[in-house]
Amino acid sequence: MPRVYVHTFGCQMNESDSGKMRALLGKDGFEATEEIHDADVVIINTCSVREKPEQKLHSFLGRVLPQKRSRALTVGIAGCQAQVDGERLFKKYPAVDLVFGPDAVHRVNDMVRAARERRVLDTEFLDGDAYPFVSDLDPAAQGQVAAFVTIQKGCDNRCTFCIVPATRGDEVSRPLAEVVAEVRRLVDHGVKEFTLIGQNVNSYGIKIPGHPSFAELLRAVHEVPGVELIRYTTSHPRDIGADVVSCYAELPRLASHLHLPVQSGSDRVLRRMKRFYTRERYLEVVAQLRAARPDLVLSTDVICGFPGESDADFDETMSLLERVQFHASFSFRYSPRPGTPALRLLDEAVPEAVAQARLERLQSRQRAIALAAHQSLVGSVQRVLVEGPSAHDEGVVCGRTSTFKTVNFPGSTDLTGSWVDVQITRGFANTLRGERAENSGKT
Ligand code: SF4
Repeated sequence: MPRVYVHTFGCQMNESDSGKMRALLGKDGFEATEEIHDADVVIINTCSVREKPEQKLHSFLGRVLPQKRSRALTVGIAGCQAQVDGERLFKKYPAVDLVFGPDAVHRVNDMVRAARERRVLDTEFLDGDAYPFVSDLDPAAQGQVAAFVTIQKGCDNRCTFCIVPATRGDEVSRPLAEVVAEVRRLVDHGVKEFTLIGQNVNSYGIKIPGHPSFAELLRAVHEVPGVELIRYTTSHPRDIGADVVSCYAELPRLASHLHLPVQSGSDRVLRRMKRFYTRERYLEVVAQLRAARPDLVLSTDVICGFPGESDADFDETMSLLERVQFHASFSFRYSPRPGTPALRLLDEAVPEAVAQARLERLQSRQRAIALAAHQSLVGSVQRVLVEGPSAHDEGVVCGRTSTFKTVNFPGSTDLTGSWVDVQITRGFANTLRGERAENSGKT
């Protein structure tokens, strides 16, 4: 049986695409493998959102391509970097057999077959109507507790720092019935927790017939028997409407965690980023969400050192961190991405050392906020959906709360897929540790 190894860099969207490629190639008899040395086909699914993607790709290819000298091996570069830089990569790496962008994922079987005869380059964007969402299930999802379900691809926003519109094209929403059908099939495979993914999920449905809203989609998924927890990502604060807020009051299986990227706490910087919300509006949305779901935990994304960001702007971001008390923030130093509008602002670039110092200050404060929040949970009993064995400790299993806390506790892997009450004994910056609560049954 031929084997395929897919290596994923980047976000959940790439992880989902990698799963779809494994599923599609499975129909041609390919078995998914975790060992590169076993693979007949190796696909590297690349990311271009942050800097230095090419070094990562280059070092990965340095491990893979020499293997072609001793055995038959097809090597492909997929994903966002392939989309924006495909032709150059195709020329630079003549030993690579195929280079293709995210819109060509559904054609992976044809491309792998064709690559036996000739090299393949496919970075064509598809029109909205022509874009087929792949419904085949990732073989790796079998036996998993949690799965991603793609509800949308691309983005119609043009945040000035972001390369996604160039790599994934315009926004296309997947028909509601198709999303629900995939959720049902995953339930039949034992999946209990679903993360609906898209670049800007809150604008879901605007361009499809009947204009189903994101809130309607949440309600439809919530009704599927067997769905125990729903998450979604990524949200745009401008597009969260009252209908989504009310879902937090009315849908008990909607998780008590939301990732709501703010990017900056300064209105001046938000305007230059073209985010189309203000600090005040962001705080208003947070207040509405917390009124609807008092235990809601928030995480966010922050860019430090966006061109023109002053000390005062950055202080606004720090004060927003204090106001909202995020439990996590994914923060990065601004990195210019090719072809993005913010390149025009580079004459006001923040010196690297200043941006780095701001990033470190923010991350240090964020760690302290998260640690305090986690330590305040010591002694409490948290309900945890067990995902499987801990990656590090034998005899320890790992699960997540509805609030997206990773909890490790001693237990058997038989608990995988069960809800267990865990008494928290220690809180760290990123995880919690606990013991099964007395009288805790699994459900
Ligand atoms: S909403 Fe903005 S940051 Fe998010 S994918 Fe679209 S353009 Fe990029």
